[in-house]
Parts: sequence; structure tokens; C-alpha cells
Amino acid sequence: MASGSAIQIPTRLPLLLTHEGVLLPGSTMRTSVDSPRNMQLVRSRLLKGTSLRSTIIGVIPNTSDPTSDCDDLPSLHRIGTAALAVQVVGSNWPKPHYTLLVTGLCRFQILQLLKEKPYPVAEVEQLDRLEQFTNQHKSEEELGELSEQFYKYAVQLVEMLDMSVPAVAKLRRLLDNLPREALPDILTSIIRTSNQEKLQILDAVRLEERFKMTIPLLVRQIEGLKLLQKTRKPKQDDDKRVVAIRPSRRISHVANTTEDEEEEEDHDDVVMLEKKIRTSSMSEQALKVCLKEIKSSDLVVQESLTLQLIPGCPYEFSAYISRLKKMPQSMPEYALTRNYLELMVELPWNKSTKDRLEIRAARIVLDNDHYAMEKLKKRVLEYLAVRQLKNNLKGPILCFVGPPGVGKTSVGRSIAKTLGREFHRIALGGVCDQSDIRGHRRTYVGSMPGRIINGLKTVGVNNPVFLLDEVDKLAKSLQGDPAAALLEVLDPEQNHSFTDHYLNVAFDLSQVLFIATANTTATIPPALLDRMEVIQVPGYTQEEKIEIAHRHLIPKQLEQHGLTPQQIQIPQVTTLDIITRYTREAGVRALDRKLGAICRAVAVKVAEGQHKETKPERAEVGEGEDCKEHITEDAKPESISDTADLALPPEMPILIDFHALKDILGPPMYEMEVSERLSQPGVAIGLAWTPLGGEIMFVEASRMEGEGQLTLTGQLGDVMKESAHLAISWLRSNARRYQLTNASGSFDLLDNTDIHLHFPAGAVTKDGPSAGVTIVTCLASLFSGRLVCSDVAMTGEITLRGLVLPVGGIKDKVLAAHRAGLKRVIIPQRNEKDLEEISAPVRQELQFVLAAGLDDVLNAAFEGGFAVKPRLEHLNSKL
Ligand code: ADP
Repeated sequence: MASGSAIQIPTRLPLLLTHEGVLLPGSTMRTSVDSPRNMQLVRSRLLKGTSLRSTIIGVIPNTSDPTSDCDDLPSLHRIGTAALAVQVVGSNWPKPHYTLLVTGLCRFQILQLLKEKPYPVAEVEQLDRLEQFTNQHKSEEELGELSEQFYKYAVQLVEMLDMSVPAVAKLRRLLDNLPREALPDILTSIIRTSNQEKLQILDAVRLEERFKMTIPLLVRQIEGLKLLQKTRKPKQDDDKRVVAIRPSRRISHVANTTEDEEEEEDHDDVVMLEKKIRTSSMSEQALKVCLKEIKSSDLVVQESLTLQLIPGCPYEFSAYISRLKKMPQSMPEYALTRNYLELMVELPWNKSTKDRLEIRAARIVLDNDHYAMEKLKKRVLEYLAVRQLKNNLKGPILCFVGPPGVGKTSVGRSIAKTLGREFHRIALGGVCDQSDIRGHRRTYVGSMPGRIINGLKTVGVNNPVFLLDEVDKLAKSLQGDPAAALLEVLDPEQNHSFTDHYLNVAFDLSQVLFIATANTTATIPPALLDRMEVIQVPGYTQEEKIEIAHRHLIPKQLEQHGLTPQQIQIPQVTTLDIITRYTREAGVRALDRKLGAICRAVAVKVAEGQHKETKPERAEVGEGEDCKEHITEDAKPESISDTADLALPPEMPILIDFHALKDILGPPMYEMEVSERLSQPGVAIGLAWTPLGGEIMFVEASRMEGEGQLTLTGQLGDVMKESAHLAISWLRSNARRYQLTNASGSFDLLDNTDIHLHFPAGAVTKDGPSAGVTIVTCLASLFSGRLVCSDVAMTGEITLRGLVLPVGGIKDKVLAAHRAGLKRVIIPQRNEKDLEEISAPVRQELQFVLAAGLDDVLNAAFEGGFAVKPRLEHLNSKL
């Protein structure tokens, strides 16, 4: 292998055919290997071989199309570079391939191809004598002037680059330390040259020829640099801001021209981004952070000196930019930094919409968009009027509290409309991580800004209306308390400098109008509740729902489904049917969905009908009014499918009556339930309050032989269990007075008797004291064997002495009773004042019994009253 101090490469070399570039001696190249031949070479030679010799391969620039080298070996370039494989990295994605890092040693020429498969192996002759490098003086003498000339150009070029870049400084040192013979190859790899030019240098076997060919390339590069400097306004300390044409990584490997082009595009991109940063109206602090980002991440390329042309660009900035070099795009930090900077540019630092608040117009918008909800609309108008007069947004945050589907969100949207502001809804349900509000620090993988900043980016202005939906559903977790983060957002004293962790600079939120919604105030964190002004939004009565359906929901659904009133008719009785038999809710969301289902079904029929020929027998009837009338009679169809089969003329609306309703929505879901369930003793109807509105609640009791045990089922809370015990105790102590006996006729109700109390809908947890009166009534019915009136519902807390105490949520509970079609409602006497909040039509349809004690409750709950024993009446009146 060696003769004297010379190094000899093996005479047989496996050949690696590359498409990606030309490897020259003295330079390093990273190349991707994915063709079968090259893969074989890597596997059987590089990965299996153990000696140093096995890592030496011949790299032949294969100029033919890469796809064509599958079967036959293409004609090979005669001259190649013997190379040392320094690193092999394998990957399976997106397809199996290796990435090779190879360092060029010397030229060789192929003498004879020894084998082609599985990878080519050739007998080679070494062209560059590696020992020549040791004999520096001799070659210098031989080459004389040519070598000197080359050296001068090389030094001139390198000194034009920024010497503060370590790789440039190293290159400068190399120019002096390396043998001159090695320089043409190395410099050709570094400067901007095409593959073709590199190939010519590779083919230049004679050193003299190589020098001659490289000098023009150097000169071209030097001229290019000079031109660039001229266009970029030379300053005194120009040498510091000289542009390094090639980033230092180029020194370590060679790339082809397409890569260069891509790179140029990236440069442009980054320069554009920088320009955007400078011209955006972000705060000074934000601008500083952005500039720092650019500096620390080396994102900006040297060419970004164009920035000097931007007015107001501080000199220091330009100075350090000149030291920057480009970060490879493949590095994760590149994308992170870029995303960050792009977000900073996109944020509406100074962009806002102009408020156009006019209270009279606001009232019209609110009235047009929403039926009923007078109290809410009045309060919103007051709020807006104060804003108009005071001209700032400081003050409590409005929080609409009420069951789902009562229009909380849609009122928020109308407020934005009246103010002419952008609207954005931020759903907070289930948010348990404070980073959701405040963003993740950028040290985390996948970090991103919080919802507030994201929202601002989406709306693109800094004074939108933000609807914080479902603040009562915020949760706490190990990741911190999101409610605490929200406090900062909502506090007018703090939110002018809200700092999102991702942004890491303050953003002024003081122009944002926040409105919150919740189903209940019970679960809103107290500190947050303290910042808000709660406005209760109750559920709707049936009449209100019918109006809302016909004024708002149906027209909206028709429009969404491309239908016209000429094609579908939904009479008010049908709407009432949907409300009472297909939905049981405080709001109108389910009603809206059902109307949507009807419109979908009708849309199909209308679309089908448009293509259908009118049936012959119908056609015979004739045209005009006669025909219409005839069909109108038939238009009370058995089912919606029949309607279509009749192939009505397009101008006939499809009438949605009860049959059609049944056909589309299925059998009614809430029919006959109440009276059926009250058909035997031991059942009573209570009224409960839930975050979803009021609800009627059945209480069932049964007794059996036993040892005086009380069993309670239906997921009851402690308070409710106590109510049950209270009720039994009161009944036991008053059994004789009311003539209540157990199965064996004893006044001791629990003697040999077990009682089971059940609250259906067992999956739902129930708690609260207001079921007391219902449990007493239910047990009184069980032990007296009498039926509770089927149209009575009740609510009230009881005491051991039989008093009825006031409870909350009367309005929602009364509406629930009204929805369920009940006629009489028993409420505690001290809740009388709450009845004022209930609308007149509902009050007129219901009969209210105000109970001070349990006697009143029982008297009202049973047909004909619940008589006490005459003997005891006197005694009772003494109490
Ligand atoms: P919430 O936010 O209270 O859950 P939404 O605002 O989403 O309810 O309301 C559900 C739907 O009902 C919306 O389409 C809304 O327009 C409609 N709606 C609710 N209340 C009214 C009302 N009073 N007038 C007109 N439409 C209403």
C-alpha cells in the first residue's frame, strides 16, 4: 500500500455512484443512498467490513438520471474520487435509505470494471499522488507563478469574508498551512460553482491545468462580492459587515445548484420576515425580543444586510446581523423561531376597529335578534350606555348565567354587532391547565400561545368582543389553576400588560371587551365571580319558545337548508307539539335541532320532487285552483313520505302536521309520563333545580316487611338523605294524627316494615334540601294508600316540626312544572316574592299554593285535602 511516506489507495475499489454532487479531494460531502446498488455497497462493504481499508470507496459522479440506474449499469464517468466513508446513518422514513458522510482523498481513474453486481467494483489507478503533499518546495518551484497567483486570489477572497465567523478564520489559516496543490480542489468546493464546473476540475488531472481552471472561478467570486458590497452602502467599518457569500457549513460539504437556489429563496423569506417585523407596529419591548430572537437563533442570513435600507433600523442591529449565518432549515429551532416571529408579526399590536356605538341602534339590533329576555337586554343596554358615556371599558365583566340554549352566546354576538367589533368565542369548558390561557413557555416541545393571544391572532384586531364561554366549567389540575390566569386577563388594572408565556412580552388587552357565560354561579371560582356582574338568563315558557321558533329559528333553518316558506309550512300547533312532546329543556337548542331535522327531511322531498314527473292521474285532474284545492285536502298526509309520493306541484308547501312530525322525528318522547306514573300510591312530583334549568323529579316509595330499615337509591347527596330521615321522623310522629298505618295497621310506621325511597334518573347525582316536602307527600300517599294529584308539583325544605322553609331556583322550577303540563305548584310561603319574576302568562296558567307547614302541603297535594283526625285538630292549632 505505501511506498516510502506515500499513501496508496487500494487498486480495487467498490464504486458509489452519486447523483447529488461532485466530491473533490480534500472536501467532505453528505450524500443520500437509496438505489439498490449503492444500498448493497453500504450494507456489505461499509457495514460489514471491519478494516480501515474497507471504508475506502470510489465515488463516481454519475451524471445520468438517477431513476435509470435500476438494472443496467450506466456508462461510468472515467475519473472519480477515492473517499473515506466517515459516517453511515440509516433511516426507514420515508423509504429505506442511508446517509453517507464521505471525505475525498485523491483522484483515480477506472482501468477496468471487475464486476457490476451487486455493486460495481473496478480496478483503479491512483492519479493524485498523496505523497506529493510532502514535497511542497518542489511543486512550488514547478508551478511557480501560477501557484502564487492562485494563492493571492484565494487570500483576497477569504479576507473579504467576515473573519469573526470561526470557519472563515480557520480557512484563512488553512490557506497558509495546506500544501498549495490541495487548494484548488478545496476552494472549488467552497465557492459558488456549478456541478459542471466541479466536474471539470475533477477531470483536470494535471495540477497546472487545475490551477488555471480555478483562478477564473475565484476571480468571478471576488467580483461578485465586490458588487454586493457596493450596492450595500459601504461604511467605515465595512470589513466588519462584509457579506459571507457562503455560510460556513459549505466548507464541510459540497452542495449542488438546486440546493443553492432553495437557499436563496429561504434567504428572501427571512429577509421578508425581518422587514415585516420592523414595519409592524409592535411594542418596543416586543420588537426588541424579536430582534434578539433573530440574533440568538442565527436565523437571519448574511445577505439580510439589505435591512440597512430600512429606515430606522438601528446600526447595532445591522452590525450584528452581519455576523449571523443561516441556521439549517432542518433544525427544529428554525421552525420554532420562525413560527414565533410570524406570530409576533401577525398580532394586532395597534390594529383596531372603530367603535360605532349608538344606543338606539343597539336596542334595535338586540330586539331584532332576540325575542323576550327583556331583563337581559335592558341590562346590556345599560352597560353599553355607560361605556358610551365613560368612553372606557373599565368596570365589571358581564357574566350571563342560565341553562344551555337560552341565547347567552347569541346575545354576546349581538353586542359585538352593535359595537361594530369582531367577535370571538373562547370555550373554557374542561380547561384545566393554566397554559391554555397563558400559553406554554417556548422551552417546551410543541409550545404555543394561550387562547387569548390565539384569539387575537384570529380576529386580527386588538379590540374584539371575547366571549368566555362556560367559565363555570374551568377545572383545576396539577398544571395550575386556569381561573387564576383568567383573573389577570379580566382585571382591568392588570390586563393592559398581559404577558403570555409563549410571547414573553406584554400585550395590551385593555381594549378587549370580555363577556362570560355560565350555567351556574355555584362552580365559578369566587375570586373570578367577584370580578363579574352576574345577569341571570332564565329558561323560556312554551309561548316564548313558539315565538322564538317562528320569528328566528324556523327562518334561520329554512335559509340554511335552502328552503322557502313556499315549500314548507310549520304551523304553531306543530311547534307546540315539538316543544312539549319532543323536547324538555329550558332553552331552545333541542327545538332548533328538531326543526333542523324537519327541514332536512323536507329538503330531500323537495329535491326529489323537482325531478319527479307529476303522476298521470293527478295531471288529469286539471290545472289551476281546482287542482290545488284537491291536493290541499290530500296534503294532510299520512306521512311525509306519502307527501312526496303525491308529487305535489312545487308551489304547494309541505305541511308539517303531527303525522309528518311522527314520521320524521319518531314517536313522541315525553308523552303521558306524568299521569301514568302517578297512577298508584307512593309517587309524588318534586321540582329540582339543575344547571340546565328546572326539572320535574319523581319520588317513589314502597314498603315491605322488614326491620324498620330505610333504603335510599338514586345517587343522593347527604343533604337529601337527611331530608328523607326528617320526613320519616315527622310522619312517624304524626301518624296517629293523620291516620297513617303500616301494613299490619300499626301507627308505628316502621314496625316490621322496611321503606325504600327511590329518585329515578339514578345516573344523575341529586342533592339539596328542597325535596323534603315531596318525600313527605310521597310517604303520606304510601301509608294512606291515596293517590297524589297528578297535576301537582312541589318544592320546599322541611323542619322536624313540620314547617316548610324557602328554597332557591323557584323561577326555573315553576317553568319546569309549566313545561311538563302541571297545573298546581306548591311552594314555600316565604318564596312568594319570587313569583313576581315569572311572566304573567305562566302565572295565569298555574295555580300556586303557598305552604307554611306540611299540613298545607298535604292538603293541596291530595284530592279533597288530607284530613287530620278531628280530635287532634284542636291540639294542632295550639302549635
Ligand atoms: P347558549 O349560549 O345560552 O347556550 P345560544 O346563544 O347558543 O345559547 O343559543 C342557541 C340558539 O338559540 C341560537 O341559535 C340562538 O340564536 C337561539 N336563541 C336563543 N334564545 C333566543 C331568543 N330569545 N331569540 C332568538 N333566538 C334565540
